[in-house]
Amino acid sequence: MNTSTPTSTAVSTLTQPRGVERVITGQPTSDGAGVKLTRVLTQDLQRRLDPFLMLDAFGTDNPGDYIGGFPDHPHRGFETVTYMLDGRMRHRDSAGHEGLLSGGGVQWMTAGRGVIHSEMPEQEAGRMEGFQLWLNLPAKDKMCAPWYRDIPSEEIPLLRTPQGVTARLIAGHSHGLDGAMQREATQPLYLDLELPAGAVFEQALPPGHNAFVYVYRGELVIAGQAVPRQRMAILANTAGSDGVRLQGGSEGARAILVAGQPLNEPIAQYGPFVMNRNEEIFQAVEDYRAGRLA
Ligand code: FE
Repeated sequence: MNTSTPTSTAVSTLTQPRGVERVITGQPTSDGAGVKLTRVLTQDLQRRLDPFLMLDAFGTDNPGDYIGGFPDHPHRGFETVTYMLDGRMRHRDSAGHEGLLSGGGVQWMTAGRGVIHSEMPEQEAGRMEGFQLWLNLPAKDKMCAPWYRDIPSEEIPLLRTPQGVTARLIAGHSHGLDGAMQREATQPLYLDLELPAGAVFEQALPPGHNAFVYVYRGELVIAGQAVPRQRMAILANTAGSDGVRLQGGSEGARAILVAGQPLNEPIAQYGPFVMNRNEEIFQAVEDYRAGRLA
């Protein structure tokens, strides 16, 4: 277990915390072979939340909602970050990689120039819950070699504050600790937070980084605004701001906090291909059809 106690105290370390710009309700949808999920970050928010392209939340006790899984499908031009809170999902790809993603674990996959993979549940009953986040790659890296890393739960650094907040550091840095993953171009921060009722958690954020919070249990209060369960709060990029201050509501909260440095490059998306120009999308479709993605 990678646990440490940070030096932060209940005293605020922020001088100008960010406010909430907008609260978003996810769209119920299905993907793969009929898997039911909630698309929280939709295509119309890709520019606002650059470098993030998509966030899906899934959570159900009904096997009928997930049993079909995500059979073979391609990706090119970005990274997928799958965080499993509960359940087991088997991953296989065209490069011969295989891994089992289970409770508390993360799979970080760089599609780069292309992979064909499947993501299939390895359970026929019980709960399946988690998130899939799509993180864009800079233009110069979109055709890089595909890569992936399975990060088991015990390899994700855990931070506990004196107020009893726990933060799992999937990516980036928090309170002097390094998360499990770092990315130079986009500097993503990805924290999974659990806040007792009334407890406060502060996170430093550069004002230019786009940031959002998704609440999946209880309720959070951010700069005086309540953010209920199953809502995403887009945090304002206020000039001079230095972070965000989150407070657990009356029943406490569980939420993910995600932030990153925008790429400010054109985005061309067609389904599972995300490039910069339409010609590159046509090429991706052609390469897939010709079997050049595997
Ligand atoms: Fe996929």
